[in-house]
Amino acid sequence: MTEKLLSTDRRIENVRENYKIIRDRIAEAAVKSGRNPEDVRFMAVTKTVEPALINAAIEEGITLIGENRVQEFLGKESELHLEGVEKHLIGHLQKNKVRQIVGKVEMIESVDSADIAREISKRSEMQGITTDVLLEVNIGGEASKFGFSPDTLEENLALISELSHIRVRGLMSIPPICDEKAQIRQFFSQMNELYIDFSAKIFNNINMNILSMGMSGDYYEAILEGSNLVRVGSALFGNRIYR
Ligand SMILES: *Cc1c(COP(=O)(O)O)cnc(C)c1O
Repeated sequence: MTEKLLSTDRRIENVRENYKIIRDRIAEAAVKSGRNPEDVRFMAVTKTVEPALINAAIEEGITLIGENRVQEFLGKESELHLEGVEKHLIGHLQKNKVRQIVGKVEMIESVDSADIAREISKRSEMQGITTDVLLEVNIGGEASKFGFSPDTLEENLALISELSHIRVRGLMSIPPICDEKAQIRQFFSQMNELYIDFSAKIFNNINMNILSMGMSGDYYEAILEGSNLVRVGSALFGNRIYR
């Protein structure tokens, strides 16, 4: 039976079960990589997901959600039980949408150009706030993906570190789809090296302690390679139904 034919109650039950399974696997991978379970954050990726399911995940213990689109987030925000829940934007951001999202989320993980960083800083300044961001890295060099290429990261970090109302907290990545686990671990490992390199460098406004990588199919491997924030959608909520 396909997901959309299941009743909402049934799908909520599934979310509750999935949550526990994923939470335990995250804890296992964290320990296996020499860390504590609470050192790795579990983000629920909520794109296309109806509020009832998101609220069920929050009841189970989710304290971090990620949305891809500004419009979708603002449209369902009022139906979510967000007390104590942190919100991150994780999708490509257009310049003309920056104004609407700054101040509404705790972090923008998908900063993929110095231009967008400048706009976020400008709009943050107008609101009298500083916005935490991650820089997205296109680790596989794919034409279809957003993000800085690893070899332009340093010059862009230098530029972005000059912006007054942004704080760079780390890196985010979506590696290429790989058939082999060993292959995807290579990409995660390269990301971890970049993260370690850049966290050690001194820039203004940059205090990196977040490495956001790993999704439904590969969060376990991502944690083994150093991720401390995994972004999980379909493994938690079921397959997405795009309307
Ligand atoms: C959709 C999405 C995810 C979650 O993908 P799943 O494979 O469903 O877990 C994670 N990160 C980003 C940036 C996404 O757009």
